[in-house]
Amino acid sequence: MASVTLEHVSLRYRSGAVGLADVDLQVADGEFLALVGPSGSGKTTLLRSIAGFLTPTAGRVLLDDRVIAGPGVAVPPEQRQLGMVFQQHAVWPHWDVGRNVEYPLRRAKVPLAERRTRVGEALDLVGLTGYERRDPATLSGGQRQRVALARALVARPRVLLLDEALSALDEPLRDRLRLELHTLTREMGLTVVHVTHDRSEALALADRVAVLDGGRIQQVDTPSNLLARPDSPFVAKFLSDATLVDGRVTEGLFSAGDHPLTVPCPGVANAARATAAVLPAAVTLTPGGDAIVRSSLFTPDGSDVVVDWHGTHLRVRTHGSRHRVGDAVSVHITDAVVYPQAVEDAPEREAVMSA
Ligand code: ADP
Ligand code: MG
Repeated sequence: MASVTLEHVSLRYRSGAVGLADVDLQVADGEFLALVGPSGSGKTTLLRSIAGFLTPTAGRVLLDDRVIAGPGVAVPPEQRQLGMVFQQHAVWPHWDVGRNVEYPLRRAKVPLAERRTRVGEALDLVGLTGYERRDPATLSGGQRQRVALARALVARPRVLLLDEALSALDEPLRDRLRLELHTLTREMGLTVVHVTHDRSEALALADRVAVLDGGRIQQVDTPSNLLARPDSPFVAKFLSDATLVDGRVTEGLFSAGDHPLTVPCPGVANAARATAAVLPAAVTLTPGGDAIVRSSLFTPDGSDVVVDWHGTHLRVRTHGSRHRVGDAVSVHITDAVVYPQAVEDAPEREAVMSA
């Protein structure tokens, strides 16, 4: 196993597109790190830079203390001892399962008897004992993805890199494989970097989650800290569906101009411009009032409600009786995370304050 370190890593594509911008990230030996972010935020670019399929324009990538990419250094992928699984299970259809899993060992010229043993072990690990002679075409999508995982594990990688490895699977299979992957990698003590656009998957699986946007790391923290203390309006909105409202802070009170929203924010300095992130669970609704229910979706842990409150579309998590579209309600906000002067950094605010 190994730790992975990225130091000031930037990557610009020939087209001019920014893949990564000054990324600093350390994944500890044995840690399960999830990388989340919207489409195009640089997740795949980051993973492929660790794998060696892309070379950073600036900065360094290290495995433990060894520089594997940096000025004048580019260790080829096959010499990095990493395992990788993609969304599209790249299982070769003309080879049986055993031969597919064996491939990295063959390439490394491991003797036949040892190859056999290790393929058997890898298939045991992923719950496909005895599948060596099976034709991949006879397998389900989930089983094929397990074959890809066995192939990534068979060479005993120092780090496992997963790029949307579960995203193509349907529930409940996806849920089961998610649990298995977690248990398996934790038992092996494997360092994992798991890319997903699914924030609940990231929060559920990872020791820490790195949130990417525009090729930059926005925040890296444990799942509970990310939810409790988002560093920026972007993280609050992306991970927790916070509603972002622009306004100002005066003597410990956030107010939103001519909008009725006010929230106490003790200790926050006066600011002419600020953004409040209102978490769905920090809002309660009571019958009758100046807001209108626009949507109301049932979920196992309460209803996911959107109300139009003087032009602000406020996301609310409610419990108890289900609201109906068109109901008039009153809004009560218990607290909000207030970011002074964050206005310039929050281009997504227009989407929220649509008065
Ligand atoms: P994600 O995996 O988070 O969806 P990517 O890492 O694939 O994001 O992409 C990051 C950015 O780099 C995007 O703007 C994307 O359009 C761009 N990009 C990705 N691959 C290439 C490529 N091969 N050539 C040019 N631009 C690319
Ligand atoms: Mg991607």
